[in-house]
Amino acid sequence: MIYADNAATTKMSDAAVKTMTELLKNTWGNPSGLYKRGQDAKEVLEKAREDIAGFIGAEPREIFFTSGGSESDNQAIWSAARAGEKKGKKHIISDAFEHHAVLHTLNRLKEEGFEITLLDVHENGVIDPKEVEEAIREDTCLVTIMYANNEIGTVQPIREIGEICRRKNVLFHTDAVQAVGHLPINVKVDSIDMLSASAHKFNGPKGVGFLYARKEVRLSNLIEGGAQERGKRAGTENVPGIAAMAVALREKQEKMNETSAYVRGLRDRLIAGLSRIPHSVLNGDADRRLPGNVNFCFEGIEGESLLLLLDDRGIQASSGSACTSGSLDPSHVLLAIGRVHDVAHGSLRLTLDRENTEEDVDIIIKNVTEVVEYLRGFSPVWRDLINGKRKFVL
Ligand SMILES: *Cc1c(COP(=O)(O)O)cnc(C)c1O
Repeated sequence: MIYADNAATTKMSDAAVKTMTELLKNTWGNPSGLYKRGQDAKEVLEKAREDIAGFIGAEPREIFFTSGGSESDNQAIWSAARAGEKKGKKHIISDAFEHHAVLHTLNRLKEEGFEITLLDVHENGVIDPKEVEEAIREDTCLVTIMYANNEIGTVQPIREIGEICRRKNVLFHTDAVQAVGHLPINVKVDSIDMLSASAHKFNGPKGVGFLYARKEVRLSNLIEGGAQERGKRAGTENVPGIAAMAVALREKQEKMNETSAYVRGLRDRLIAGLSRIPHSVLNGDADRRLPGNVNFCFEGIEGESLLLLLDDRGIQASSGSACTSGSLDPSHVLLAIGRVHDVAHGSLRLTLDRENTEEDVDIIIKNVTEVVEYLRGFSPVWRDLINGKRKFVL
């Protein structure tokens, strides 16, 4: 079996599993306890906070542990909105191809009377910082732009956007769930005010993540209760999960150059192979993309059928985000970069990591090529295209 859906989730590293199981067995105290068992857990927690802060150029007190990327996105956006509202600033800037954790939160704020500007994404899947600058108004309280897109893998000009926001005195949040552990990130150099991350996207456990918030930023709580996380996120801390997240991130940081060169090589081999399929297109810029991301559209087929047939052949991939699988709507990301509905339906996302091999890539190329041809043989849309009753888009 070949797993090629690492943007949906990753396998936990052995070191992360080991750390987590040892802590579950031995360090199960409540970190709020004043006795030794509690303080031992507290020590593990604070060591993880220090490590994680160090990896992204932050201070330990700027790291807040959460249940993952979705919660971090929600808390960052609500916090900026609550703070903005107090100053009469109810305008937020984002873009059309964010993760739903961002887009749906923005929809909720819209219902509350906030005005949301969603910037266009260009066909290459990259946002133009100039357009961010032009969209900023007197009443803008937040710019939220993802670091790297989860479907097409394009990496945004975060430093330029951060500098613009800092100069204009507007809060800047980035959903960096796909970037942390995969790209070098420094929140100070990039002028980032808030950043979301999730452990299960970098070989850590599910259900744990963090929100970085610059010390000048006023966070509001989503969850009320105890005084954990400097009073900003109540609930007894998931100490084993948090420590395993820090261990997983350390491994990723230490091997980042090596891993990204290796995975990028696999990615480019896969892109070259799939590009040979007629009437296909690579989605997103070929260079400005995550090391492991490959995303194609094949005209005249349904992505869902392609996925099921690939699964039968032992290849696990995705048609876009896990959140939209099972629904018949085409990916909002592919629509945002200008793919028409029919073409967007025929999408395939393959996301590789260090466990994949060149042999995997060659098997994927062979099977995708065969299955696309097989499906086209049945497709009424393909027949119309071939007979000239319909025009090829690709
Ligand atoms: C996976 C993902 C999320 C959600 O993270 P969870 O930890 O699964 O809640 C948010 N944003 C992006 C870009 C993602 O890829």
